[in-house]
Amino acid sequence: MNHQQFIALHGETDDTEFQCKCCGRELNTRTMVWFEKATNGDLAAKPGLIAADQSQGWFTYGAACSRKVLLKKGVAA
Ligand SMILES: [Zn+2]
Repeated sequence: MNHQQFIALHGETDDTEFQCKCCGRELNTRTMVWFEKATNGDLAAKPGLIAADQSQGWFTYGAACSRKVLLKKGVAA
């Protein structure tokens, strides 16, 4: 999901700077995306795809890396 959707769902974050979980690059909140990560490494772009007891939380990715990691993990967005 994008940052606006994340805030609508989870509320404002205190963080003002975000880094890509994949490459560490500093991210623009307008283009970055949020993925939920499961304990087995799977990533999901929508809430509800990963069981609450298997979720490690939500992480930010850059646009290019988001496509790369989702392809790698093969998780339905
Ligand atoms: Zn990246």
